[in-house]
Amino acid sequence: MLLRHTAKEIADREALVVNPAKTCQPIGAMYASLGIHKCFPHSHGSQGCCAYHRSALSRHYKEPVIAGTSSFTEGSSVFGGQANLLEAINNIFTIYDPEVIAVHTTCLSETIGDDVPQIVNKAQEEGKVPKGKYVIHVNTPSYVGSHITGFSGMVKSMVTYFAENSGKRQKQVNIIPGFVEPSDMRELKRICAEMGIKTVVFPDTSGVLDSPQTGRYQLYPKGGVTVKTLKTTGDSMGTIALGQLASGPAAKALDAKCKVKCEILGLPIGLNATDRFIDALRKMAGVSVPESIDEERGQLIDILTDMHQYFFNKKVALFGDPDHLVSLVEFLSDIGMKPVHIVTGTPGAKFETRIREILKDKVFDVNVRAAGDVFLLHQWIKNAPVDLLIGNTYGKYIARDEDIPFLRMGFPVFDRIGHSYFPTLGYKGAMRLAERILNAFLDRQDRDAPEESFELVM
Ligand code: SF4
Repeated sequence: MLLRHTAKEIADREALVVNPAKTCQPIGAMYASLGIHKCFPHSHGSQGCCAYHRSALSRHYKEPVIAGTSSFTEGSSVFGGQANLLEAINNIFTIYDPEVIAVHTTCLSETIGDDVPQIVNKAQEEGKVPKGKYVIHVNTPSYVGSHITGFSGMVKSMVTYFAENSGKRQKQVNIIPGFVEPSDMRELKRICAEMGIKTVVFPDTSGVLDSPQTGRYQLYPKGGVTVKTLKTTGDSMGTIALGQLASGPAAKALDAKCKVKCEILGLPIGLNATDRFIDALRKMAGVSVPESIDEERGQLIDILTDMHQYFFNKKVALFGDPDHLVSLVEFLSDIGMKPVHIVTGTPGAKFETRIREILKDKVFDVNVRAAGDVFLLHQWIKNAPVDLLIGNTYGKYIARDEDIPFLRMGFPVFDRIGHSYFPTLGYKGAMRLAERILNAFLDRQDRDAPEESFELVM
């Protein structure tokens, strides 16, 4: 009963956030950096920020997460962190020998106003960046935006620093996957391979944060997109960006820089969003959809129709990242469920408009909030109870207090495994998602059923 003091009465709040439904910008930037092969993320700020960001990622992926820090002390906090960053660049290249150092800032270095590109130029002039190696950067002040903003910024930096237009088009499609699991990135590559399409997925954390146990620690696992491949993104036939917020800015930057046309779609979560993704891929690459993908789609439809009676009319409360929620709300309402309370911690008025558009023909009331918090979500649930809660690990307190089935999804998930290995994107991902939702309902039905209606076949 950890949240028993959450009041049912809702008061207007502007200056106070209780239990934010987001994490800080550098976490997203650090995650994106790990999707470049042999990249060493670097946090330009104090040690505490870096320790928190690394531990959040390590706890979610259950893998060691490497990162350096400029280790600000009182001196650098007052006079700026130039000397620390110069020394860090020198040390990292000397000791850890990465291909790329990806620097992101923190609240502290942003407040001081450190000019990271100027410091990187100085490092280059002083010979601290070995030939053929790179230092890229993104500004990630965490008092605005969220981990999604930081992710989006770092992906855009990959375009700014690496994409080149050689004048020779390559028969390949860029996929910007958004802040999704390594399993999802792997699934996107599998779908494209099944369709016979050569792709560049960037960033790509598969093979980095879902790597197998071999008994030997590898500082740089074999996964991640290489710098050489990243450079070719400017020659691709087109880009499919998945998620307006996380992937849209990089796709637009690539179009502006190298004239690579882009399609910005929602994350392919559920039937309709995956249909749109497959269709965009088919058109962009000029291929037809193979029977194997049709078969996966048919299997998904089979599950959804077989079990429709269990989904129908069930009320759901959701919180998480905007790109995920937009597609998830569409999927849930497509299968007859009622997403009634929806909160994202990431700011942006377009989110609320988009959700209301998706649900405009529905006859139930919807509470939706961008830049909201989990406290507000809990209050909404107290006033209008739901049958299911979907969100990250922090939702477990509400689920326990209100005795609601709980589906863990999004970032972070600290107390369960599986997300790194089993996708939720694509038709196969939607099958798994439907299975997990269904299991949550059926487990609850079994738990609560009186003996005379405790069914063997459901
Ligand atoms: S000080 Fe800023 S960057 Fe550092 S952990 Fe806190 S919110 Fe994140």
